[in-house]
Amino acid sequence: MKVAMYYGLNDIRIEDVPPPKIGENEALVEMRACGVCGSDLMDWYLKSRAPLVLGHEPAGVIVEKGGKVKGFDVGDRVFVHHHVACLKCHYCMRGDYTLCSQFHETNIEPGGFSEYFRVPASNLQIDTLKIPDALSFEKATLIEPVGCCLRALKKCDIQKGDSIAIIGAGATGIIHTALSKIFGSEKTIVCDLIDFRLNSARKFGADVVVNTKKEDLTDVVMAETDGRGADVVVVTAPSLEAYKMGLKICRRGGKLCVFAPTKPGEQLQISPKELFFSETRLIPSYSTSHVETREALELIISGKLDLKGLITHRFRLLDTAKAFKTALESKESLKVIVING
Ligand SMILES: [Zn+2]
Ligand SMILES: [Zn+2]
Repeated sequence: MKVAMYYGLNDIRIEDVPPPKIGENEALVEMRACGVCGSDLMDWYLKSRAPLVLGHEPAGVIVEKGGKVKGFDVGDRVFVHHHVACLKCHYCMRGDYTLCSQFHETNIEPGGFSEYFRVPASNLQIDTLKIPDALSFEKATLIEPVGCCLRALKKCDIQKGDSIAIIGAGATGIIHTALSKIFGSEKTIVCDLIDFRLNSARKFGADVVVNTKKEDLTDVVMAETDGRGADVVVVTAPSLEAYKMGLKICRRGGKLCVFAPTKPGEQLQISPKELFFSETRLIPSYSTSHVETREALELIISGKLDLKGLITHRFRLLDTAKAFKTALESKESLKVIVING
């Protein structure tokens, strides 16, 4: 079978590998669509593990199942979560599923940018969701990124009437924007450096958009929030500058959601004195669990969360390298996906 093997951000090769063999409690899925995630573009995060097959936002069809698999059949259309928690450990008992030591060990094999992938038993049991015929494979690739944003916003405990500022209007910034309105945001302010993205943010519910090349974000946020600052700030851009801006525009007692990692070694200076008196709450949110993927699926199929237009580019599996290049460089892309078949 064909896979897109990642050797580096600018070196993705199509290779032939034998299809994975499945165990009696496992399934083999034919990938039909798989999203390219911002984290797939973080060379520093991936380079040491290369070569590997990326792709953790896959949807497809079960083409083979082990003898002991119950609840799934060949032909089922599914979303598969690449990581699942054990549901038993200290972390899991407290809902910190993404911190469970099993979370990273449970991987689909070889990855989503592949014609076929193996779904381990725990992934199949805990977080493989059947998707209705009415939901396209393309849309189903959004379940994982929506789950990540849902988890972050739930942690931020948005109150009705809150103002939310979102830094970065890429795909996850836009998903946060759309979700913020569902969570009751009175005013969602979105900033980015690219007008195309800001115009898109408007379509997905942003009340105010700011191009930080042209306008001062702090001025706008203060003017829009009676001089307080935003109740919740979500940083979806992986840069130190974005975090510095985020701290500036967060109101006293507000919440700053750390949603995107910066490069290793980059340090954000925070004065404990200022933190103490401002009572700013830092709320990091990494990845998503089986809890939010179900909620994401529900929001998407009910139509409450309408992400039509979020997927701007589609590439065949053989063109995965182009998909990555587009996700990385195009100023007119939001979500880029890879399709198969
Ligand atoms: Zn992702
Ligand atoms: Zn656990």
